[in-house]
Amino acid sequence: MTPEEMIAKGRLLLDQHGLQDWRLSIETIEDRPDLPLGVCDSDNRVIRIDARVGREFRQAVLHEIAHALRGGPDHDPEWIKIAKRIGCTSNHLMPYEVQFE
Ligand SMILES: [Zn+2]
Repeated sequence: MTPEEMIAKGRLLLDQHGLQDWRLSIETIEDRPDLPLGVCDSDNRVIRIDARVGREFRQAVLHEIAHALRGGPDHDPEWIKIAKRIGCTSNHLMPYEVQFE
């Protein structure tokens, strides 16, 4: 997927979840070696997605949209609930769910 295709697809997802006033940025995220897929920048209303995300693109965008809707960086039960509702897969959510079991 080219960055342009990622922007177009991500834009649809953002709009679908009421984030019309947010922007999607495809970039190389260097400062998060443990979690390089995306960042939700609530202050600037920007969802940053790493250009190397590959086939995880959709899940990465939905993950950050859930942060935008939740209003914070935590992976708490409320975030998990929102993430599930908007379409994050159980595979994707498993690492976050285990801490509440
Ligand atoms: Zn997260």
